[in-house]
Amino acid sequence: MKIICIGRNFIKHAKELGNSVPEEPLFFLKPDTAIQPKGHPFFIPEFSDEIHYETELVIKINKTGKHIEERFAHKYYSQIGLGIDFTARDIQQECKKKGLPWEKAKGFDGSAQISKVFIDKSNLDLENISFKLEKNGEIVQNGNSKDMLFHFDKIIYYISKFYTLKIGDLIYTGTPAGVGKVTPGDVLIGYIEEKEMLKVLVK
Ligand code: MG
Repeated sequence: MKIICIGRNFIKHAKELGNSVPEEPLFFLKPDTAIQPKGHPFFIPEFSDEIHYETELVIKINKTGKHIEERFAHKYYSQIGLGIDFTARDIQQECKKKGLPWEKAKGFDGSAQISKVFIDKSNLDLENISFKLEKNGEIVQNGNSKDMLFHFDKIIYYISKFYTLKIGDLIYTGTPAGVGKVTPGDVLIGYIEEKEMLKVLVK
């Protein structure tokens, strides 16, 4: 399986990092080894002094397809989960400055946190899914799918022009504003609506 991540999909987040707002979806990949084994804490890697959380709704692909038309894209996923796209912001900024790819800053082990459970999309209003992240009991990110620049179906249409999507592929759909640094001892809890989806201990 592959993990595809959308960048700058929320205007306020693009701006908080001083980025322009993209005209078409911006995406990058993480390897499957980025998935955190279930129940393990997240260990801050020694190569970074600035690991940021980015809380994101995640689509799980349930049908293989390429060149998927936007109007049929809804047939390619039935469940939505929650993930954290951990990012070595210091390394990413360096890569951006030098015009280098971001993979080093985005694809390390544990960088793709994913909820154990996914929610059937028939139980959600896809145009209005709220999600949030609490760090040590305080809400640090608050997002809603209605604020996405590119919504799920558009993302699937766009990515599938370049890559065949396969069953089990995950698409991280971008983070809202409020990204920030984690330090050892932090406890992150992510929610979709009021449902706890994800808990990460940082070491
Ligand atoms: Mg992200």
